[in-house]
Amino acid sequence: MVALRHRNLKLFAVALAFFAITITSFLLNFTQNSEKYFRFSGPFVRFIASMRRPCGCETCVSEAELSPWFDERFNQTVLPFLTKQNNLLSESTYKWWLKLQSERNPMDINKAVEELFKVIPGETSLSERSPYQCRTCAVVGNSGNLKETDYGPDIDSHNFVFRMNHAPTAKFEKDVGNKTTHHFVYPESVRDLSENVSMILIPFKTLDLQWVVSALTTGTINFTYAPVPRKIKVTKDKILVYNPEFMKYVYDRWLMNHGRYPSTGFLSVIFALHICDKVDLYGFGADSKGNWHHYWENNPSAGAFRQTGVHDGDFEADIISNLTSIKKINIYRGR
Ligand code: C5P
Repeated sequence: MVALRHRNLKLFAVALAFFAITITSFLLNFTQNSEKYFRFSGPFVRFIASMRRPCGCETCVSEAELSPWFDERFNQTVLPFLTKQNNLLSESTYKWWLKLQSERNPMDINKAVEELFKVIPGETSLSERSPYQCRTCAVVGNSGNLKETDYGPDIDSHNFVFRMNHAPTAKFEKDVGNKTTHHFVYPESVRDLSENVSMILIPFKTLDLQWVVSALTTGTINFTYAPVPRKIKVTKDKILVYNPEFMKYVYDRWLMNHGRYPSTGFLSVIFALHICDKVDLYGFGADSKGNWHHYWENNPSAGAFRQTGVHDGDFEADIISNLTSIKKINIYRGR
């Protein structure tokens, strides 16, 4: 009797092991071939596939294995922010970065960073992603192609709305919206921000880090290579700093060293790929008549963005087109 029970137990254990192995190998095989299963499958398989996605949207920007071109470039291990825990630059990045605006006699970078994080928090959870979340982002460039589009409500419907440099919203709400969650600036392009907006400083030199400290405290710095404001109206605890290491990654991996360094717009797009699940672009590129002005300018032949000579606008536009054609981002081209 006891022997029979032992035998049954053994059979049960073997059957259980067999079942577990079958399920595990199915799931392993499935995760590698989910595309194939998708085509022939019903809701159950689709549900399992959705569990594998890195976010809660229909499709997620960071999802791998959909485009080899994207996978070659996208590197999630490079962190977009400079923080207290992530503030050491490699020697090659530091050398490259110092040359961007030909900085002479810079302050010691470690000291500058230390001083910076005495004034601003130097921590953020923005890069943390969850498979249950669908974070939608609108990246709003400054192109004149936004005029008379009525994109405003559409832009404002995103969880995050990124704007950059001068970018006014007052009087332009109908076309550009009025919500801003994050505003990318550098000292020479800075503007006052509402208290609920997070300023993302893009530092192109050591003096830019010193300027943040000065602008929030003594107000001693009022000139870099151009006049900069002594003080800024911004919520100190909401200031984030773009990581120069990430900037180098954008320049090497995405731009393949085209131009002298990436434009604010392009830096914002790649930044968005890293912290958003769905990315929609507005205000990028020329208008339908080939003008490169800003949406607040009345003179369409102003061509401000094209005249910098520092960025490779064509190459940046090609990368943005590629990202659109592989459906990693959507672009609203305006008028
Ligand atoms: O001119 P500004 O640098 O302030 O514009 C911010 C960004 O908007 C640029 O870096 C560029 O990516 C985008 N832009 C554009 N076409 C324009 C103006 C700006 O694509 N006509």
